[in-house]
Amino acid sequence: MTTRQDPPPAKCPAPAASLDAIAGFLLDLDGTCYVGDRAVPGAAAFVARCRAQGRRVLWVTNNCSRRAAEYAAKLNRLGFAATPEDVFTSGEATTLQLRGEGVTRVFLLGTPSLEREFQDAGLTLTAEDPQRVVVAFDLGVTYEKLKQACRLVRAGVPFVATHPDLNCPTEEGPIPDCGALCALITAATGVSPQVIGKPHAGMAAAAARRLGLPPHQIAMVGDRLYTDIRMAVENGMTGILVLSGEATIEDLRHSPFQPHLVVSSLADLLPAETPSSTRAS
Ligand SMILES: [Mg+2]
Repeated sequence: MTTRQDPPPAKCPAPAASLDAIAGFLLDLDGTCYVGDRAVPGAAAFVARCRAQGRRVLWVTNNCSRRAAEYAAKLNRLGFAATPEDVFTSGEATTLQLRGEGVTRVFLLGTPSLEREFQDAGLTLTAEDPQRVVVAFDLGVTYEKLKQACRLVRAGVPFVATHPDLNCPTEEGPIPDCGALCALITAATGVSPQVIGKPHAGMAAAAARRLGLPPHQIAMVGDRLYTDIRMAVENGMTGILVLSGEATIEDLRHSPFQPHLVVSSLADLLPAETPSSTRAS
């Protein structure tokens, strides 16, 4: 999934003088632990090493078209030891936030899998008097659904997006994602959504709660500067960029979001006892 928007002003990297202070890692999935259906070499060993050292690991993804259990199954297939509780999606972050706000009735644009996830979280899906309009990745979107969403948003129902990504990469090329559907509703109503997924604070706070650690003891590892690294540096976490996915060294030169550390892949992070990784300047 990709997000291309005007970058906000640069934020200064803050914490973690050393990885010794890191008690938990948030790991991006695609481009970081696997690329498509292929595990990044050494990534599963990194996770095993973290756990052997007593460090916690939580996978975080903006892609909420599938549920945590489905991602855990894929991770296991690729050699990672993962349970559904080890995977945190923007869909779960959204349901947690909504329930925390006392919301029970939602008008949702999402996949059938996400609809079930919302219902399992105790949310009633309805167009009648909902408390939120929630937009996610929706392969079954229709003009009728968009019209309903716009009508509700225009009537003042708060508008929430599970994640900001404008496109979702597929084998046939990028296809419109949550951010693009939200852009249509915003164009029609003049209302922008509250966005939950990476790089936003809602996702960072919810993931930190799941790890049970303060932000300064957490490192976010990912292959995207404007989601993974931005979330880290704007929320008091250590940002570690891997070059096994989307971002390149060239991108790094022009990004307002600078990681604390750059490694070629997870295989280079936490090597037994003697780190050989390079500090980002
Ligand atoms: Mg990624």
